[in-house]
Amino acid sequence: MKQSEIFAGLEKYDVPKIFEEIKTPAYVIDEEQLIANGQILKEIQDRTGCKILLAQKAFSNYNMYKTLAPYLAGTEASGLYEARLGAEEMPEGEVHVFCGAYRDEDFEELLKYADHIVFNSVAQLKRFGSQAKDAGKSVGIRINPEVSTQDGHDIYDPCGSGSRLGVTLEQWQKHMTAELIELLEGIHFHTLCEQDSDALETTLKVVEERFGAYFKNLKWINFGGGHHITRRDYDVDRLIKCIERIQKKYGVTVYLEPGEACALNAGYMVTKVLDVVENDGKQIAILDSSAACHMPDVIEMPYMPPLMGAMAHREGATFNGETGSKAPDSKNYPYILAGPTCLAGDVIGTYFLDRELSVGDTLVFGDMAIYTTCKNNTFNGMPLPDICCLHKNGEIKTLVSFGYESFKERLGR
Ligand SMILES: *Cc1c(COP(=O)(O)O)cnc(C)c1O
Repeated sequence: MKQSEIFAGLEKYDVPKIFEEIKTPAYVIDEEQLIANGQILKEIQDRTGCKILLAQKAFSNYNMYKTLAPYLAGTEASGLYEARLGAEEMPEGEVHVFCGAYRDEDFEELLKYADHIVFNSVAQLKRFGSQAKDAGKSVGIRINPEVSTQDGHDIYDPCGSGSRLGVTLEQWQKHMTAELIELLEGIHFHTLCEQDSDALETTLKVVEERFGAYFKNLKWINFGGGHHITRRDYDVDRLIKCIERIQKKYGVTVYLEPGEACALNAGYMVTKVLDVVENDGKQIAILDSSAACHMPDVIEMPYMPPLMGAMAHREGATFNGETGSKAPDSKNYPYILAGPTCLAGDVIGTYFLDRELSVGDTLVFGDMAIYTTCKNNTFNGMPLPDICCLHKNGEIKTLVSFGYESFKERLGR
């Protein structure tokens, strides 16, 4: 039951029985979709010899790492804890770390887990670079090519003016020394977000123009994340051309570290209707899940997750086009779907259903594996949803449950 197929095929409001039987709210991770994503990523590696890592900040449900591991070269971490998680839970893979700034007191321990360590500034390279190299680690630096290929999502654009992410050419020329360049085996850039390979092509051109002179003795170039590789209309052939060209020209191994693409469409949020209220002629269904607590990117990004059997609409939000976005149809029943918290803006969006909702109805949102379980919170004392797995054989098993203790534990003793 691959999610992309469910959303493509379901016109009627028709929740499979299996989702009605579980305790809600719950995230359900779709094993079959994870494998399908993995196969696409594996094929790119087989065709080019590049290496693809899971960026754990998007998806770190480590019970599923054994499912993904056969298709990936390892994990990418944003700091000490994710590096340790990757080393512990995907031990057969490489562990790469990039952090905006490393802490003195963590660095020794980080060296135990990491294979590649990427620094965000010349000063950080100077501070920690030799220590990392002496410990046998592959040292890299993140550059900022200052080429924005996205608009609308400013908080996800590391190339904007005033960005702290990556060394600009100006800073490189001002502070980099020959001894520091000696430490480098790799260059890292991360500038994309949910983009196709044409944006990568544009970025690479500028990266080469600005920094190409320093690529002579490198072993690897890391293209970062934000490649929406497993989206149905993504141009894989163009990506492959980019990878092959760079590998050949500079004699390097290319790394990619997508987060989203690894677990795209590979999770559901299963929730129940607690109440239906009316205001100004609008029907509002209050759910047992919250945008603010359980799907924070719905508000932060913003976007709207697809809802099984429904069409969706929200001003200013993007909707995952591949899963059946359609123009709202006046024959349908519009509902504002919202959380039970006190935050007025705890709203997922307006969805057009083909029947009226009643208390106790089950709703199933799609594309809920990424930036959800690893980013949720217990604001308002909201319970954390269980995390379950929908196995290939159609069974749903609970991986972990949370209760009052999980809420209380983080706040005191
Ligand atoms: C966020 C991030 C990623 C993953 O990005 P996705 O958009 O989830 O693919 C990879 N590398 C770095 C350095 C990041 O900050």
